[in-house]
Parts: sequence; structure tokens; C-alpha cells
Amino acid sequence: MERLDGTVALVTGASSGIGAATAVALAQQGAAVALVARRRDRLEAVARQVLDLRPPTLCVEADVTDRGQAARAVEKTVARFGRLDTVVNNAGVMLVGPVEDAPPGEWERMVAVNQLGLLYVTQAAQPHLAKAAASDPRHVADVVNISSTAGRVARAGTAVYSMTKAGVAAFSESLRQELQLQRIRVSVVEPGTVDTGHASRTREERRPGVETRIRKTERLAPEDVARSVAFIVYSPRRVAVNEIVVRAADQTW
Ligand code: NDP
Repeated sequence: MERLDGTVALVTGASSGIGAATAVALAQQGAAVALVARRRDRLEAVARQVLDLRPPTLCVEADVTDRGQAARAVEKTVARFGRLDTVVNNAGVMLVGPVEDAPPGEWERMVAVNQLGLLYVTQAAQPHLAKAAASDPRHVADVVNISSTAGRVARAGTAVYSMTKAGVAAFSESLRQELQLQRIRVSVVEPGTVDTGHASRTREERRPGVETRIRKTERLAPEDVARSVAFIVYSPRRVAVNEIVVRAADQTW
């Protein structure tokens, strides 16, 4: 495993949960980190955590569903740090419930954040990643996309969330092939149930269903997923860890 000194990472959805833990994990390996999300106060709290680890951070308040804001987040990162080696597309929402009575606005939000946001950030980042991959210190760059076990195993009530996450896996495999010659590795991490409050964004009347499903499961900590992301990124240049499924050990789905 290699350290990430002299490299720069951008993590979306870094204001809480898996994104915040991932930013800390990459900083622990020496990467400068751009923290991207909408809630500035939460980003600044994460930045303070990273400060103790020494690599510099940048907080970028941006809504990744807005193509201009997503591109500007990438440009601000490159303007501040001079390069971009790693993108972790982690921002996401899960709004669960049967299709029958779901407000279409929920579908639009999931598609916008989980898919379009990821596309906008990735496309804006690609030229910078290619440049970083052609240079010192590592001669490799990474895009790590956070999908979900829900993208592998669709269950009643998660149809649209599962659709967005299955799409992330398909996109990642196609992009992997497209960017391989540029030495940009593309990977997908599929976490099982993680203790982040992610499920609490679901409509109140649908929450008991979600909670019943996960009640008996000892959920993963955000740091458990962050370790998988860090493992992908700090693997040496000759290694491409393209997919990691990390379930809670007693999760049946
Ligand atoms: P959190 O709700 O804690 O984190 C979601 C992050 O996404 C927040 O930082 C939020 O920041 C950010 N975000 C949401 N919408 C936008 C937007 N429009 N623009 C920019 N940032 C946005 O949940 P998790 O940490 O659990 O989720 C992280 C990822 O992991 C998601 O993609 C999720 O689908 C996936 N996942 C989670 C699992 C779980 O059980 N928790 C299981 C499998 C996958 P802000 O509100 O400040 O913008």
C-alpha cells in the first residue's frame, strides 16, 4: 500500500456519513482533500477533523445536481491544489417506499443526486485526472463510485433507489474500459446497511418499514466503508480493485 502524499482527492457528500469518513481516511494517507456538499457548517466540522491530520482541505459548497456547480467544484479544487488525482462520487439519497404511491419528486431527486450528480462531477474531473495520472507522484488516478448492495439485490420498496445504484455499477464498468488507457482506474464500492441516518430521509410514514428491515442487523460504521475506498485508492498503480461489496456481516440481502 502506498501513501497519498502530494495527491489531491475530491469527495462528494463529504458533510456526513460515509463521505466524511472517506475524506478523513484519505487525509490520513496524506492526500489533500476537497470536501463537497451543500451544508457548509457540516463540511467545516469535517475539515476541522482533517486539520489535525495535517494535509490541507478545501470546503466547497455545491449541489452536484446542478451541472454548473458540479463543474465549479472540480475547478475550485484544481485552482486551490493544482491537480486532482482521486474523485469519490459518494453523494446520494435513498427514499424508500412502494412505486404505487411514491411522489415522483422522490424519483427525480434520487436520479438527480445518485446518477446525474455523479456524471457531472466525473465528466468535469476527467481531464484533470488524466493529467494527474500522467505525472508524479503516483502515475495513476481514481474514480470511486459509491453504489449499494441495493444495486445488486433489488427488493420490494427500493425499486427506484436500486435502479439508480444498479445504473452506477453499469456506468462504472463502461467508464472503466473507456479510461483504462489513461491510467484512470474506475471502481465501485457497494456497501450494505451503514449506520449514517441515510434511511431517515425516507418519508415518515414509510420509515417503520425500513427500520423493521434493519433492526436486527448490526450495521456497518461509515469508517468500515471508508477503509474499502482507501484500499482501492492506495493500491499500487499496477493493481485495479474495481469492485468491493462490503455488507454488514449478518445482513441477509
Ligand atoms: P448521508 O445522508 O450521511 O450522506 C449523504 C451525503 O450526500 C451528505 O453529505 C449530503 O450532504 C450529500 N448530498 C445529498 N444531496 C446532495 C446534493 N444534491 N449535492 C451535494 N451533496 C449532496 O448518507 P450515507 O453516508 O449513508 O450515504 C453516502 C452514500 O452511500 C450514498 O450514495 C448512499 O446511497 C450510499 N449508501 C449508503 C448506505 C447506508 O446504509 N447508509 C448503504 C449503501 C450505500 P448535504 O446534505 O450537505 O448536501
